[in-house]
Amino acid sequence: MNEPRIRIVLIEDDPQIRRFLVAALEIHGYEPHEAATAAEGLRLVTARQPDMVIVDLGLPDLSGLDLIRRLREWYTRPILVLSARTREQDKVAALDGGADDYLTKPFGIEELLARLRVASRHLAGQRAGDASGRIEAGALLIDVTARRVQVRGADVHLTPREYRLLLVLASQRGKVLTHRQLLREVWGPAHVESPHYLRIYMRALRTKIEDDPAQPRWLLTEIGVGYRFADE
Ligand code: CA
Repeated sequence: MNEPRIRIVLIEDDPQIRRFLVAALEIHGYEPHEAATAAEGLRLVTARQPDMVIVDLGLPDLSGLDLIRRLREWYTRPILVLSARTREQDKVAALDGGADDYLTKPFGIEELLARLRVASRHLAGQRAGDASGRIEAGALLIDVTARRVQVRGADVHLTPREYRLLLVLASQRGKVLTHRQLLREVWGPAHVESPHYLRIYMRALRTKIEDDPAQPRWLLTEIGVGYRFADE
C-alpha cells in the first residue's frame, strides 16, 4: 500500500511561481492544492485540512501576515512563508505571528525540499531527542537527561542560560527562530526587546562549541531574522 502523500495548500498569486511550485511538489511526491488569493487559500485550508501550508507574504487581498494570524486561530500544522528579499521585517513578523519557516525569493527547489523535510519531521513529532533524551548533531552531543554537552566526547561547560539557548535551538533543528522567540524562550517575555543579550550569549556559546565561531557549523545566523540550528 502506498503511503498517503503529504497534502500542501500553496497560496501564491504569482502564476509562474505557482506553476513551478506545483510541478516541483508533484514530482517529489507531495499533493499540492493551489490558491491565488488569501480568501481562496483560507477556503482551501478549511476544505482540505492540509498537512502544511505555503503562504506568499505579498497577496492581493490580504497581507500574508494577517492570513497567518487567521490560520493560526485554528490551524496548528506547519506554515512556510515565501517572501521577497527586501521585506526582512515582514519575514520576522510572519515568524513571530506563527509561521514555522520562510524561504526568500528567488529560491531553489532543493532549498524548498529541505525546508519541507524539516517541517514534516516536526509534523511527525520526531523532534530530535524526544525519545532518547539525547540530541546528536555530528560531533556535538546534548544529553538532555544528564544536562550535559559534549563536543567530540569532551565536556563543554555552559552556564544555565547558554545551555537553555542551545537546547531551544537544537530541539527545533533546522527551524529558524526569531530574536523575539529566542528572547522569550530563554529570558522570558519581559526581555523580547533586548536583542543584545542574545548576541552576547550567542557569541559565548559559539566560542565554546564551534571549532571556528566565525564560521559556525551548528549555530547559524539568519541575518535580520534570528538563528537556526543546522539541520544536517
Ligand atoms: Ca505575491
